[in-house]
Amino acid sequence: GLAVSLRAVTKVYDNGVMALGPLDLDVTKGEFVSLLGPSGCGKSTALRLIAGLNAPTSGTVGVFHRPGEERAGHSIGFVFQEPTLMPWTSVRENVRLPLKLARAAAAEANARVSEALTQVGLAEFADAYPRELSGGMKMRVSLARALVTDPDLLLMDEPFAALDEITRFRLNNDLLSLWRNLHKTVIFVTHSVFESVYLSQRVVVMSARPGRITAEIRIDAPEPRG
Ligand code: ADP
Ligand code: ADP
Repeated sequence: GLAVSLRAVTKVYDNGVMALGPLDLDVTKGEFVSLLGPSGCGKSTALRLIAGLNAPTSGTVGVFHRPGEERAGHSIGFVFQEPTLMPWTSVRENVRLPLKLARAAAAEANARVSEALTQVGLAEFADAYPRELSGGMKMRVSLARALVTDPDLLLMDEPFAALDEITRFRLNNDLLSLWRNLHKTVIFVTHSVFESVYLSQRVVVMSARPGRITAEIRIDAPEPRG
């Protein structure tokens, strides 16, 4: 089935900038798709519309969540380029935040936080503070915070763009392992051709003014990569 379905979606910001569209995009459940394109082509706008953080100017944004869930928001994890961690509280509390907002029970929340930290390789850093961590580790915390609600859909907006190349490559490989183990749908925004081809099953290429899809490339991957 589909995880996301955009139909004739446009976005015109209040200042008159036509950022997007019309855009049609279907993403299948479990798929890893990259949105690739130059700065300003509307990649972030597309992600924010899918996340429900912005409303489209016209068209429809369909996000298919788990049956029985009140809001689709609970099954979406969002990772930004800036880790945006709360500096005054520990890694564990940073990762716990979405569960607090969702009013999860304490025992279950503890278990979920530990699991998410293990998934990103930071189990031993639960009591550290963000300032003690490297850029790559902060990004791992941000990823754990996105995973802690066990979302079906992971939206990632140039998450590794500010990291050095080696750290970025490690995180690419770890993200691939996570994707293979967790069977989540991932939409990954990048302007790196390498990253898009390396990570995803399908690369959606966008061009600017207004943001449109100009090509779609399927990556054949008979063997697991990474
Ligand atoms: P990308 O993620 O590909 O760099 P964005 O979606 O951030 O592209 O931006 C697409 C276009 O919309 C750009 O021209 C940008 O300046 C404009 N834009 C983005 N956000 C806003 C906003 N909140 N208000 C006005 N214009 C915006
Ligand atoms: P990555 O995030 O891919 O592990 P980093 O460059 O962020 O790469 O860190 C490399 C390794 O160095 C980390 O996995 C961690 O084991 C160690 N490390 C980095 N910063 C710290 C720190 N502040 N305290 C302890 N170990 C650290």
